Amino acid sequence: MSEHNDHPDDQAPAPGPDVPQCGECLFYAPSDINAGECHARPPTTAPVPTPQGLGFATAWPRVTPDTWCGEFEPKRAGDAH
Ligand code: SF4
Repeated sequence: MSEHNDHPDDQAPAPGPDVPQCGECLFYAPSDINAGECHARPPTTAPVPTPQGLGFATAWPRVTPDTWCGEFEPKRAGDAH
């Protein structure tokens, strides 16, 4: 295993007051005070366990207001949320 890692997260800044966060992002759709959905991309379908076996569910990525990603876009003036 190499000690050098080129994964982008290795250079990513830590969340904090100087880093934009999901709660301030144009693509954040809050569902409650502690979490919301990211609408930067279409919802995705993933396998999920069900009582009958394996099923599929389609959903937006679930995020918390204090996390972030490189797709951050500031809300526009007059945006409702
Ligand atoms: S995951 Fe990225 S694009 Fe989605 S709401 Fe958070 S900062 Fe915005």
